[in-house]
Amino acid sequence: RRAGRIDPQSLDEYLASGGYCALRRAIEMRPDGVIAETIASNLLGRGGAAFPTGRKMESVAAQAARPHYLICNADESEPGTFKDRVLMEDDPFAVIEGMTIAAHAARCEQAYIYIRGEYPLAAQRIAGAVARARAAGFLGEDVMGSGTRLEIEVRRGAGAYICGEETALFNSIEGKRGEPRNKPPFPAEAGLFGKPTLINNVETLVNLPLVILEGAAAYSQIGTRGSTGTRLFCLSGAVSQPGLYEVPHGTTLRALIELAGGWPHDRGLQAVLLGGAAGTFVPPSAIDMPLTFEDARKAGATLGSGVVMLFDDSAAMKPILQHIARFFRDESCGQCVPCRVGTVRQEEALEREDFALLDEIARVMQDASICGLGQTAANAIASARRSLQIWSS
Ligand code: SF4
Repeated sequence: RRAGRIDPQSLDEYLASGGYCALRRAIEMRPDGVIAETIASNLLGRGGAAFPTGRKMESVAAQAARPHYLICNADESEPGTFKDRVLMEDDPFAVIEGMTIAAHAARCEQAYIYIRGEYPLAAQRIAGAVARARAAGFLGEDVMGSGTRLEIEVRRGAGAYICGEETALFNSIEGKRGEPRNKPPFPAEAGLFGKPTLINNVETLVNLPLVILEGAAAYSQIGTRGSTGTRLFCLSGAVSQPGLYEVPHGTTLRALIELAGGWPHDRGLQAVLLGGAAGTFVPPSAIDMPLTFEDARKAGATLGSGVVMLFDDSAAMKPILQHIARFFRDESCGQCVPCRVGTVRQEEALEREDFALLDEIARVMQDASICGLGQTAANAIASARRSLQIWSS
């Protein structure tokens, strides 16, 4: 709504465009009212895991241990994803307002926003927005005269993909090596510094002011029953107008690609990568799939973090798959054997086209890795082998 339309560094322009009306309303609704409205909206997390946001808030709010922490996960590192960067650069006060509403609901007094190291402008805009919001009384000891306290601290990543994994991110904020923890315990019980922690993605939090202002009933009219609201998709690759597109859930992949001008006229479409390196390749026959969590699941795919990367029929797919394999080899944190060794063996087996070994490694990584990186490191390669005509034999 505001990206490209208002000066992102001006609190006055943000206020003039309806900013902070949602927080005022959230304070009137009290924390339980905000949680109930968020649950009723069926807002699902936009970071990849699609967990119900209201349920997460509810379980953190119910924890007796204090303090409660809120973290905005802005370590957007999935190859092909840039939606959170655009939100932070072009509408930073909306991110801060969304965080403040979430903190109010889950009774958090301290929040962190963990921004990818490669996003200097986003970090600068968010830091500026935090300072201005604080000076105007939207953060600090007495948020909007409500008597509640919230401080937001900006933290920067240092280039590790794994720090986008929530428990590795906790370790990173705590000053430890960015390695994932075993779950359980889940963050809602024992997260940052061992305390109850609500962690949400940037896009998820930016939806919260809309849910509060428009109400759950109106919000859930957008999209489908299982996937409410709109979704940001990052289009790249063989597409005429790459960029960020916002569409209601349920829009077909074809309609989204057409919005971006389609693929080159003189070429055929070979594949679309949904969800990034940890996602799935879908064949051209899937182009009429509605973009919802449930339809993606039914098709054995994922919307992940909103990556839609097109490959026309001139693309050589094997080097692309090798590139993905190298990416996981490099980004594995090395903590557990199935992933540390598996990602290296996967790259070698792919080079040799040893498909039996590739299948075995994929099963082991999926079953025995500690975290999502190892569990999904074989997804894109396996899906390409399943649905694309790369190896005709
Ligand atoms: Fe680290 Fe990979 Fe194990 Fe995750 S699965 S903890 S990234 S080695």
